Amino acid sequence: MQDVIFQVIINNDGNKLNGYLTEIDKGRQVFNPLNVLADLSSPNLRMEIGNEYSALMANSIEELWEDTSDVYDYSVECGFEHLIKIQDNERDLYVRCVKDIRKIMKLDHTITYQELELFKTYLDITTQVTIINRKENPLHKIIKGILPTDTVPISYGYYSLEEAFKQRLENNIIYLYDCFSLRDVIFAILHYLTIHDYKFTKCMHCGRYFATKNLKQKYCKRTSPYINYKEENLKPDKECEEAVRLIQKRLRERRINLYKDYNENNDKDDQKFLNEYRPYEDEIKKYPTLKNLRKYEYFLYHENKLGK
Ligand SMILES: [Zn+2]
Repeated sequence: MQDVIFQVIINNDGNKLNGYLTEIDKGRQVFNPLNVLADLSSPNLRMEIGNEYSALMANSIEELWEDTSDVYDYSVECGFEHLIKIQDNERDLYVRCVKDIRKIMKLDHTITYQELELFKTYLDITTQVTIINRKENPLHKIIKGILPTDTVPISYGYYSLEEAFKQRLENNIIYLYDCFSLRDVIFAILHYLTIHDYKFTKCMHCGRYFATKNLKQKYCKRTSPYINYKEENLKPDKECEEAVRLIQKRLRERRINLYKDYNENNDKDDQKFLNEYRPYEDEIKKYPTLKNLRKYEYFLYHENKLGK
């Protein structure tokens, strides 16, 4: 039998989905099961956005997130907090695995068990899952003293992945996946999300995919990559939804101030400015993407005919 080299633990504590990845002999790291699959093998482009002031650049970064296969050498996995080495002999399969995950995220339906099974066979997945019930087991009183903790596995053997699919247990349940490769780790996360009816959708601001049960959720919980070097009031540590609100507010204020200055220096011709800014502002209300926000910002600070 192969050695377990990773362990994945996912549990929902009632408020939040928690993920823990242990690399045997290297220690444990925390991850967000809702975001991590979309962040696989994507170099961290966050800082690069802030360095250059360019609407076009924000655009190309959104495109890069769609497909990083050309700019990424897959020597390490950088989607988790700490880098994980990808062994030479598993690299080809691993690249396929990441590309498949990207295709899966674009599906407009919840993944079926059959699709999961196909993925598993195709990528030679050998993950095994144990489901642990943290609620007190009725047998607990009897066996207390025999087991070291008050956490009692529902089953002492492994659940098959299919059985786990039927169980659909969630709160207070810990899913523990023994993994024999990095592909197994990816599969484990996908397995958890699939059996709990998560779907993937794209964040309306940063353009990255995330898993959710509620497709009305428009924004992910990542930190917005929008960094403005001009004004300090937007610190780059806000989650996408709040960042959008703050950026929209700041651009609106800039527009109001510009307009005020303009009116003080000109008698009329209000319509010209209104015609110019309105399409931008309508667009950032409907689609507050990095690109649209950048475009409007560029207009308000550089392109408009009203002067500074
Ligand atoms: Zn986002």
